[in-house]
Amino acid sequence: MRRPLVAGNWKMNGSRVVAEQLTDEISAAVLPGCDVVLCPPVPYLSIVSSRIGAAAVSLGGQDCSEHENGAYTGETAVSMLADIGCRYVIVGHSERRQNFGETDTRVAAKVAAAHSGGLVPILCLGESLAERQAQETEMVVGRQLDAILGLPEIASILPDLVIAYEPVWAIGTGESATPEQAEQVHAWIRERIASHDSGAAERIRLLYGGSVKPDNAAALFAMPDIDGGLIGGASLAADSFIAICRVAG
Ligand code: PEP
Repeated sequence: MRRPLVAGNWKMNGSRVVAEQLTDEISAAVLPGCDVVLCPPVPYLSIVSSRIGAAAVSLGGQDCSEHENGAYTGETAVSMLADIGCRYVIVGHSERRQNFGETDTRVAAKVAAAHSGGLVPILCLGESLAERQAQETEMVVGRQLDAILGLPEIASILPDLVIAYEPVWAIGTGESATPEQAEQVHAWIRERIASHDSGAAERIRLLYGGSVKPDNAAALFAMPDIDGGLIGGASLAADSFIAICRVAG
């Protein structure tokens, strides 16, 4: 039985006051049935970290550097995220792949860095609308996944890895994948992982992301291979995010 996980990706939104309010409201909610992760922008990580305190809510970064430290202006090292209280880090979000040219190889290096620095990577995979229309979903998601499965240290990474399937056409568009569309890809991802390590495939949590809202979460999370969600827009309103967490577990 996999414990559901719901992560809120605030992206580049909010302010100090918004970060404080969201954290306080979400931390005050009783959400015993799922793991909850808040991923604020870097400048607010320490504020959120100090306010979640001992609550059953974890902190996550939205990205990390693949390098340990040094002359990488603007980047954030895994050790710094861990230092400030992060347990998770999103890696390979489609906005990073599309807007910042992150390649599969670089994403794989970030996954390895996150793992070796003690963080749980939330690895994002997903196809664009053109790729789905060209029936290339499995090819694209398979290529993105294989870059990770090819890492020399994959055996130690897999048991803790979290994967978020996020079709690019569903992110921020209000057009979620149907539960059946999402389940099809999730089951396919789990099978591909099983060909490497069947035990890890059973344990690994596969999140769905892309326009999840309180009113479509139940049908998505009811699917056998969907173990929670990576939530963008709806994580910026405490009541929506809490409602989605309650549906998850
Ligand atoms: C995301 O940013 O990862 C995401 C899924 O966004 P939204 O929920 O707004 O589609």
